[in-house]
Amino acid sequence: MTRASLPDHTPTGLLIGGRWTDAEGELPVQDPATLETLAVVGDASVDEALTAVAAAAEAFPAWAARPARERAEILRSAFDLMTAEIEDCARLIVLENGKAWNDAMAEARYAADFLRWFSEEAVRIEGGFRDAPAGDKTIITDHRPVGVAYLITPWNFPAAMATRKLAPALAAGCTTVLKPAEATPLTALWIAEVLRRAGAPDGTVNVVTTSKPGPVSEAVLADPQVATLSFTGSTPVGKQLLAQTAQRVLTASMELGGNAPFLVLEGADVEAAVAGAMVAKMRNGGAACTAANRFYVHASVADAFTDRFRTALSKLRVGPGIDRTNDLGAMVSLEERDKIAGLLDTAAAQGAEVAACTTAPEAGAFIAPHLVTGVEHGSVLTRNEVFGPVAPIVVFEEQDEAIRMANDTDAGLIAYVYGPDPGTGIAVARQLESGMVGIDRGLISDAAAPFGGMKESGIGRAGGFHGIHEFLETRYLGVGL
Ligand code: NAP
Repeated sequence: MTRASLPDHTPTGLLIGGRWTDAEGELPVQDPATLETLAVVGDASVDEALTAVAAAAEAFPAWAARPARERAEILRSAFDLMTAEIEDCARLIVLENGKAWNDAMAEARYAADFLRWFSEEAVRIEGGFRDAPAGDKTIITDHRPVGVAYLITPWNFPAAMATRKLAPALAAGCTTVLKPAEATPLTALWIAEVLRRAGAPDGTVNVVTTSKPGPVSEAVLADPQVATLSFTGSTPVGKQLLAQTAQRVLTASMELGGNAPFLVLEGADVEAAVAGAMVAKMRNGGAACTAANRFYVHASVADAFTDRFRTALSKLRVGPGIDRTNDLGAMVSLEERDKIAGLLDTAAAQGAEVAACTTAPEAGAFIAPHLVTGVEHGSVLTRNEVFGPVAPIVVFEEQDEAIRMANDTDAGLIAYVYGPDPGTGIAVARQLESGMVGIDRGLISDAAAPFGGMKESGIGRAGGFHGIHEFLETRYLGVGL
């Protein structure tokens, strides 16, 4: 695959101050389905990243002062453009991330939705005006954009994680420097170009692709012109970045790793639970922070659930996402595939029954969907975020025990519950230590809903009414009227 076969409007340089520029270095981007080089993008140095920060800082006062309606209309135009060219976005996602075509289309639509949602939110930032309880003053509150926002995104949702940060930041009046994942920079570059074409002024959106995320991020976060960090990625890297933001007392929004439990309670509709499990587990080939990572199934429905789940998994076609008939694409890299295979080997060594449900191509970063039974809570697959098409099943007898096992983790991003009725599902959901719970649903991500985790899964909320506030500072004016 060559540069020529990428969709139109796919830049490969750095976006700094509204201009696409060549970087000092070069960074090849691989198609994990073919292991061929797709394109070569810029490999930014620390100095180039700091130039992007300077461009964002220069653009900030004018952008912050723009009427909210104008900011909204640029985001809305970007939504319209992205929607008109949605297949280009999906194609890029497939090519550099490896996921199946339908997953890529769903991600592209979800990503575009953040542009629309925050174009709507830009004009609805509320302030307050009230009497102080002591009657001595009036309390006025308003919200100001914090300034330059540094945005770091992972490879698993290269489009949605970019727009989930860019859209609220721009809606709030912040300017941005985006650092996408090294494995999947092309989608982010394409989105930045969408925003540029939609009228985002020079310097409001800057993108630096780099193979040196540590040094680049350390320098950017130390730059006094940077006001906030929004990070989505693994918990260890998030902790490292929090230590750096602490040095300058920066606000930081952290969307980190998950370890989602999927509970199937006594009396649950098994067919519905399997349908939900297929979505919660297999969307994105399991490479989602929201992916169901461990299944706790009541003994009374365990056999029926396991059999039907196996049957559903065995029907999946595994192969390159560019072939739209495939249901499960490639993992993002051979390293990621091998990491998953290693976890399966450990599970087998621990006594679990590991079974592939179908076959996967030998060449490329493919792995077949696996069902793992005889799993003990506390064993390797329940302790690690597998990030692949692997479904370990733990059988339980008592509901309280299932809740205890579900909560027995440092992560707290999302959980799923299938119960006999919604009331039971809600009652159990309220006992789960998790920022989000899907009740009788395997997919709840929505640009209009607050996305985020408890415990070590993060700080802050993306999307919904909350997302824009990650980029706003609340200001209080005490007035002696
Ligand atoms: P990762 O290794 O933490 O990387 C995430 C981003 O951080 C990438 O852009 C990466 O750049 C960058 N990075 C790596 N080391 C860094 C450092 N020392 N300083 C600054 N930036 C650094 O995570 P990943 O493997 O790409 O993504 C998978 C993880 O993301 C999973 O744990 C998943 O659960 C989590 N995730 C969470 C959410 C959520 O909303 N909670 C959503 C999606 C994914 P390079 O690519 O160059 O390494």
